[in-house]
Amino acid sequence: MDLYGSHINRLIEELQGLPGIGSKTAQRLAFHIVNMPKERVQSLADSMTEAREHVNYCRECCTLTDGELCPICRSEKRNHRQIMVVENPRDLAAYERTGRYEGVYHVLHGAISPMLGIGPNDIKLRELMQRLQGSDGEKNCDEVIIATNASVEGETTAMYILKLIRTLGLDIKVTRIASGVPVGGDIENTDEVTLERALLGRTEM
Ligand code: ZN
Repeated sequence: MDLYGSHINRLIEELQGLPGIGSKTAQRLAFHIVNMPKERVQSLADSMTEAREHVNYCRECCTLTDGELCPICRSEKRNHRQIMVVENPRDLAAYERTGRYEGVYHVLHGAISPMLGIGPNDIKLRELMQRLQGSDGEKNCDEVIIATNASVEGETTAMYILKLIRTLGLDIKVTRIASGVPVGGDIENTDEVTLERALLGRTEM
């Protein structure tokens, strides 16, 4: 039996396709949306379309940004020879909140997971290697800090990056953040003090 009519059903289906939204939440959101003033709904729809239209990967670090380069890569105050590798833009944001990291980032947009069928080519690893090698073959980085999560996927990815850097013969110091980040825990949900300690206590791989 079609309880809601096709328009609401379509809205519910679209919302349910989003991460973390189950059928109950989708229904709640759908009814909220159809009860909102029309202008607000238009504004919400516009913000989604425009974000999708204008947001792209930073040419340097692959985080999401409006322009060609993100504000961190554009900044002259940052140490561009120290690169912290994180799994996603939310982890970058978590480290930025500590206010203690002065280097730049590289965002992988995922981690290697044989279980989920995510291989090295599915994340921004090639971009990282190209960045580390530079165009003239001279190394343009002194340290790579691997700050992937302390999960199986995060550790697998960390080891893979180390291996790649060594295989390419790049003489770059590779460090891993300390285990202040709880095992299996997500960086984005870790408090600033713990993140800062994890960064300070990093060890060479
Ligand atoms: Zn950037």
